[in-house]
Amino acid sequence: MNTREMFAKAIKGGYAIPAFNFNNMEQLQAIIKAAAETKSPVILQVSKGARNYANQTLLRYMAQGAVEYAKELGWEHPQICLHLDHGDSFELCKSCVDFGFSSVMIDASSLPYEENIALTKKVVDYAHQYDVTVEAELGVLAGVEDEVSSAVSHYTKPEEVVDFATRTGCDSLAISIGTSHGAYKFTPEQCTRDPKTGKLVPPPLAFDVLDAIMEQLPGFPIVLHGSSSVPQEYVDMINQYGGKLPDAVGIPEEQLRKASESAVCKINIDSDSRLAFTAAVRKVFAEKPGEFDPRKYCGPARDLMEELYKHKIINVLGSSGKAE
Ligand SMILES: [Zn+2]
Repeated sequence: MNTREMFAKAIKGGYAIPAFNFNNMEQLQAIIKAAAETKSPVILQVSKGARNYANQTLLRYMAQGAVEYAKELGWEHPQICLHLDHGDSFELCKSCVDFGFSSVMIDASSLPYEENIALTKKVVDYAHQYDVTVEAELGVLAGVEDEVSSAVSHYTKPEEVVDFATRTGCDSLAISIGTSHGAYKFTPEQCTRDPKTGKLVPPPLAFDVLDAIMEQLPGFPIVLHGSSSVPQEYVDMINQYGGKLPDAVGIPEEQLRKASESAVCKINIDSDSRLAFTAAVRKVFAEKPGEFDPRKYCGPARDLMEELYKHKIINVLGSSGKAE
């Protein structure tokens, strides 16, 4: 399904839909098991990097298989959307629409304002013919994610959002209010340190900017990218078993919970599952150096990701039970 109804219900209900990226079978299984068990609507995201890694044909049929798998797990009416994350050209978005995606993102946020509008509108005009919803982006997020990277961030300007949404016809808008891509969302210089634990405390999200945007566009679906929390338990596990992730820091879950209650109706989480996967694999490698069956380390990785997804759905986004 596309995102139209999902988002309308999420805004009304004060929760957000999880958008989880997937690149392989174990990740997809974990996402579907978590969504089916909690009866949460879910957005499966495919990035350009995932398409290059796993092949777009394979990913598309995996997503289709995931719907059947969800039913097999006892989820009678699965609410699953297949979404292109960070489409960077009309051709890429068109190819995903033609290929059966139910939603696409056109990210022209790095272009000048008028060019962003023109390209977004072109994608919207095409996608809407097939009832495919379109996410656009205004403002720039810092950080690195697959092929998307920026050294600096610019908050979305609330005075631009009405003009942008009206002229493009986009269905949802990704905004920049201080979230960031990747596992290193903030430099230690941008953070303060908790005097008790010595851990980094990131700067808070700009809820004033979010409020100003919502005032301009009442009830319009807002999307947050770069919203992994970088759970310290996974970072510690990775470091304990031979990894090296010093000072990785994410968005505190209380802030995402607060955002979920507003017009923010889609929250993107990718890095957290990468961390869970890596932590579980490292643990097996460290504790059982003789192990060489991939199922013996991908299996625990899948279990840990499923636990993570369920936690996000139930405790952070509040979307459990919303797709009975
Ligand atoms: Zn993103």
